[in-house]
Amino acid sequence: MSSPFRVIEGGRSEEPSPGLLIVGATEIATMAGGVRSGPSQGEIGRIGPIPADDPSSADGPVVACWEGRIAAVGPRSKVEAALAAEGYPLGRFARVDAAGGVVTPGLIDPHTHLLFGGSRENELILRQRGAGYMEILAAGGGILSTVAATREASAETLAAHGRRWLDEMLGHGVTTIEAKSGYGLDLETEIRLIQVAWDLGREGPIDVVPTYLGAHAVPAEYRARPDGVEAYVRSVIEEQLPGVAAHGRARFCDVFCEEGVFSADQSRRILQAAEAYGLTPRLHADELVPSGGAELAAEIGAASADHLAAPSAAGMDALAVAATTDRPVVATLLPATTWFLMKEHHAPARAFIDRGVPVAIGTDFNPGTSPTASLPLAMTAACLNLRMTPDEVLAAVTINAARALLLEDEIGSLEPGKAADVVIWKVPTTSQIPYWPGADLVRTVIKRGRIVLDR
Ligand SMILES: [Zn+2]
Repeated sequence: MSSPFRVIEGGRSEEPSPGLLIVGATEIATMAGGVRSGPSQGEIGRIGPIPADDPSSADGPVVACWEGRIAAVGPRSKVEAALAAEGYPLGRFARVDAAGGVVTPGLIDPHTHLLFGGSRENELILRQRGAGYMEILAAGGGILSTVAATREASAETLAAHGRRWLDEMLGHGVTTIEAKSGYGLDLETEIRLIQVAWDLGREGPIDVVPTYLGAHAVPAEYRARPDGVEAYVRSVIEEQLPGVAAHGRARFCDVFCEEGVFSADQSRRILQAAEAYGLTPRLHADELVPSGGAELAAEIGAASADHLAAPSAAGMDALAVAATTDRPVVATLLPATTWFLMKEHHAPARAFIDRGVPVAIGTDFNPGTSPTASLPLAMTAACLNLRMTPDEVLAAVTINAARALLLEDEIGSLEPGKAADVVIWKVPTTSQIPYWPGADLVRTVIKRGRIVLDR
């Protein structure tokens, strides 16, 4: 973690005031109270609008930040009294006007493929003509064409691309993302992707959590061999994983567990080996057909099982059982992907919520199946295609997305002691965030107590 007041945005270097007091909000979604599941998935910890007969209604709800952390949240008079009682110097809190907007925690995108070379707009046309994902992949397109372009890309080129899209994400209110490798499929390129992701996170203002995804596809040089898939799995376990672990920057290990890609048995071997190296497992599970991914995620205690557009009944059961333990597997659903793939079938979000499985939402930002960096757009897709309510979706991109990255004690809610990652929106209610698809709704973004975007 970097220091709360590092210099950002082209070297702007004035000493910030140690405190911020966000005033003028219509309402604040605190998301206080921990990971959401079942009936609590839609509880956003709303403060305000404060009733007119309440003496504090005149000044509304506020968020106080001090030295990069949340100090207090609530009605202004109560917050100021509490801060004074605790000895905070009220004169050193700079006022930030929310101008009637809603205030939420900074959004968290728990599933992105941030770094890649090239683009794949040609596949949009192939899909319109009826080509399927596996058909495009088998013809050397899909992930493999991005792998070829990524292997050619220098660290500088990848970093410039990453900055361009992180900037876009910041404009949509995102303050932390996960970024997977997986377009190198050899040790050298995988480490280049992980290192660039790490460097971009250090550069800020968005925090970037790197994930190693060597088992994203079988690379071309192994495909010609009769034992190609198995030989590549061995190379991931015996060559890439030790190198990635020694490099020391990746936090998680991910596998594309899907019929025709990596089987549940192969995925288990890779993820167990990764765990022995200290990389926490997460996986692409049951995106296209039931492939044992949800079952495997529950069995090995993965932090998250992602996609889940086609889980088996047994897989749903396994995630429901895991949700009753102290290590629930977050179901990270990616509705922008099923939308962009023109699917009629989407992840069964309502069934997950009914069965108590915590649900997160991510963009799946990648050049083939989800070229959007807009988490609010994915929120709209979650409302329309997954039938989640706007409040359920807000929990899915804040506290539950934090849990999917095992960061729920640090980010994802506005509670005293947590990182002061805050978004002030141009709309007055949380339910308007997914209601205006594609619009620029963010007024101000605060990252660890510093204003990093102000429109
Ligand atoms: Zn993905």
